[in-house]
Amino acid sequence: MKGSLLYEGKAKKVYSLIGEEYELILEYKDEATAFNGKKHQTFRGKGRLNNLISAHVFSYLKLAGIPTHFIQTLSDTEQLVKQSQIIPLEVVVRNVAAGSMTRRLGLEEGTELPKPIVEFYYKSDELDDPFINDEHARLLAKVDQSDLDHIKAAAHKINKHLQVMFSEIELRLIDFKLEFGRLHDGSIVLSDEISPDTCRLWDQDTNRKMDKDVFRNDIEDLVEIYEIILKRLEAIVHV
Ligand code: C5P
Repeated sequence: MKGSLLYEGKAKKVYSLIGEEYELILEYKDEATAFNGKKHQTFRGKGRLNNLISAHVFSYLKLAGIPTHFIQTLSDTEQLVKQSQIIPLEVVVRNVAAGSMTRRLGLEEGTELPKPIVEFYYKSDELDDPFINDEHARLLAKVDQSDLDHIKAAAHKINKHLQVMFSEIELRLIDFKLEFGRLHDGSIVLSDEISPDTCRLWDQDTNRKMDKDVFRNDIEDLVEIYEIILKRLEAIVHV
């Protein structure tokens, strides 16, 4: 049974579970935010789409042997997860230059990177999630170098699995953001969500943008695009 509201973020609410100390309920909201909350809009049905898309992606990764917090979906907008202490790092993996990388480094959008790149950002709304290096991460995020090495290796492994999964549904995985958390036994697992809110996905043939950039840059209807992704994932992943 759903317990008390523990935390409310921009896109999700987190509830305790009565009688289950180490499990939580995530409830996805119908909100889209961009530019650290400066742009904000409600989209009816978005919570369901994010919940179900993320559930499909996590189920795929779980089957591939990646340790995650995901247990099961509970409803259209809710999922049951293992409780984890979120490590305050946004772990970004890039296969192709886009977004902040093009702005910061002057690379042209769409430039294929010779090898995937993993970056760390410090999760802090007040500081606008600054780009940091390993030494800053050790200072700020209560992790040691072996945790960081583990997270980087996991991020590369997850990238390989996601590239295969998205190519099966005719999408190119340009870049994405991961979050990791620590379970009560101290082990580190993949947490949070993976969805078109947290990934850049381009159509394999036309490079049409099929992710939150359609909202960020007012390109197309977000709900229609997310519906297409969910339908395609339903055809290849069993939840
Ligand atoms: O903005 P930037 O280009 O650094 O984003 C890289 C990737 O990380 C994109 O797929 C974006 O959607 C994701 N991201 C995210 N949450 C953030 C920042 C970036 O999901 N707070």
